Amino acid sequence: MLVVQKYGGTSVGDLDRIENVANRVAKARDEGKDLVVVVSAMSGETNKLISYAEHFTKNPAKKEMDMLLSSGERVTAALLSIALQSKGYDAVAMTGRQAGIVTDDLHTYARIESINPAAMQNAIDQGKIVIVAGFQGVNKDGSVTTLGRGGSDLSAVALAGALKADQCEIYSDVDGIYTTDPRIEPNAKKLDIISYDEMLEMSSLGAKVLQNRSVELAKKLGVRLYAKSSFTDNEGTLITEESNIMEAVLVSGVVLDKNQARVTLRGVSDRPGIAAEIFTALADANINVDMIIQNVGTDGSTNLGFTVPQSELENAKRLMESFDHDIGGMDYDEHVCKVSVVGVGMKSHSGVAATAFKALAANNINIQMISTSEIKVSMIIDEKYGELAIRTLHEAYELDK
Ligand code: ADP
Ligand code: ASP
Ligand code: MG
Repeated sequence: MLVVQKYGGTSVGDLDRIENVANRVAKARDEGKDLVVVVSAMSGETNKLISYAEHFTKNPAKKEMDMLLSSGERVTAALLSIALQSKGYDAVAMTGRQAGIVTDDLHTYARIESINPAAMQNAIDQGKIVIVAGFQGVNKDGSVTTLGRGGSDLSAVALAGALKADQCEIYSDVDGIYTTDPRIEPNAKKLDIISYDEMLEMSSLGAKVLQNRSVELAKKLGVRLYAKSSFTDNEGTLITEESNIMEAVLVSGVVLDKNQARVTLRGVSDRPGIAAEIFTALADANINVDMIIQNVGTDGSTNLGFTVPQSELENAKRLMESFDHDIGGMDYDEHVCKVSVVGVGMKSHSGVAATAFKALAANNINIQMISTSEIKVSMIIDEKYGELAIRTLHEAYELDK
């Protein structure tokens, strides 16, 4: 049986924890499993490296950032391999390049184009435990690239797919996927099983327990994915294909995303093409627009609102100023957050959104924007009510029961 395990930053946060991971890997090996182990940088390390670069400039070259950031994962891969060797296990550490991960050129947010698993397979065939530095690959020119924040999850899933592993286990400080972030709602319940689509919505909407791109790839490749804890032996959560049992459950989880900023454009010329121009400009600047709201125009003008990640607000504002002949005025708010309700059961049940609106109204929480899809309802509200809203919605859908 071939298993790909991935240990996140908290799980390898210091030397004792790396030792703990080494013991867990050794135990799996003793059980007869073939193992490829992907590791993150020690917790806080990637942020620390970013702050080092920002000491010199707010806008460091992305190619150099990849060189810098990829170092964190190499440290933990080497240390875990050394720890295992010291216990008498045959282990070998590999960078992303050595593991055969080839990406495109989009530095700091590269996409995996191909994986040549030959070197890994060779080492496995020789009975070695393969330790891979997560979050990184190499482009065609030979430059190191990174896969976006949280990208070690993606490394693990991609390697599991390329090696046709029996399963992929993502280890963190929580023992699975909960109905909401257990740090916000202590009554959150662990889910035994969740569909790829629900997990993808939860990750994309802000639950950082799994990186969204990794869930998308797991679905595409049919990777059997588990979320587990590196600190306990609890069961964990299986992320898999949707089944009929799941649809019986109305709502699987609620998600909070604090990294949101709202932009409202007032008196926008109500003419064909204006939305295309505005959103093309934002897209060309790689600004990730999330919710968009436009009202029916009156007197030749209309209002247009949208949200962007907080880090993109300054760029978005600057871009919008160049539209001054088409825009009457602009206001923005950094102090908003997005709360979302996710569940495949919404496809076949009505009234899910109304329950959310009623619950927030009962707590006097004003909803600024709403967007829905087949399996989610998202609402933009004042940031200071974010956690209250999550607890309120969790109770309204009886997720603690
Ligand atoms: P790692 O550093 O190992 O990659 P992360 O910090 O990225 O781990 O993810 C684990 C964290 O995700 C947990 O500590 C938890 O607070 C948070 N989290 C957010 N939403 C959920 C959820 N629905 N279920 C479980 N954990 C969640
Ligand atoms: N160390 C990287 C980050 O913090 C990648 C990861 O941990 O998955 O984003
Ligand atoms: Mg993570």
